[in-house]
Amino acid sequence: MGTIPMTWMMTRRGLAMLAFPLLLAAASAAAQVESSARPGGIVILDLGSASQSQPEVTFNGKPVLVFDDRGSWRAAVGMPLRAEIGEHTVVVDDEPVSFAIDDHAYREQRLTISNQNYVTPNQEQLDRIGRERVVLDNALNNWRDQPLESITLASPVEGPRSSSFGLRRFFNDQPRSPHSGMDIAATRGTPILTPRDGIVTTVGDFYFNGNTVIVDHGQGLVTMYCHLSEIDVEFGQAVATGEPLGKVGATGRVTGPHLHFGVYLTGTAVDPAILLANPSD
Ligand SMILES: [Zn+2]
Repeated sequence: MGTIPMTWMMTRRGLAMLAFPLLLAAASAAAQVESSARPGGIVILDLGSASQSQPEVTFNGKPVLVFDDRGSWRAAVGMPLRAEIGEHTVVVDDEPVSFAIDDHAYREQRLTISNQNYVTPNQEQLDRIGRERVVLDNALNNWRDQPLESITLASPVEGPRSSSFGLRRFFNDQPRSPHSGMDIAATRGTPILTPRDGIVTTVGDFYFNGNTVIVDHGQGLVTMYCHLSEIDVEFGQAVATGEPLGKVGATGRVTGPHLHFGVYLTGTAVDPAILLANPSD
């Protein structure tokens, strides 16, 4: 993925960059996380030396994750799956910085769900789903100011990825929202390990997601684990990389046991594969 189509960049530090120097900056960032300028991707921007104060970055009025990558400030801009192809602008310390994102063809996925209540919920179920949406949105859009030195993640479960992020889904031939995470196939009871230090901000049983855990890793990096057979952590618990969060199951809207692994950057679902240090596919 080597190119970031970047038009120009100017920060209050008086730093002007044209396309070519920015490509160099992107290449040095690649050791950690490669920039992926597409809907559902992560655009990595180099914001200069971390010896200066941390820049404030916003995208469409929302905060953007900024981290100190071995002495350089970098922004990791989560691109929504619905993002338009073409030019976008972030604001870095009141200065606009433009970049472009490319098209990406996400495949279709057609699933058959035997329990009709998961395809066409009744009013009582719709009310429950609405209340749960508020809880989930709240958990995905709140985080601690905890500094981050990297945004890479260890794999929470080893196993084949039965379907990937961004699939345009149809349940019993009815269109539904695109797949906002990565599915990892594993047998029921397989331990799910936390991929990076964090704090558990949500545990609960949700209508579509089944037994669910949400972890805040700081600066807007939030991960979500769904369809668990068992939850092994409590609300507010600190978890270290490799510690068990729960076990793989088949609760909620599923066709079989698997882990649904969601990764959010300041509230935007992005492709988890971009941040996994050792992708297994
Ligand atoms: Zn899933």
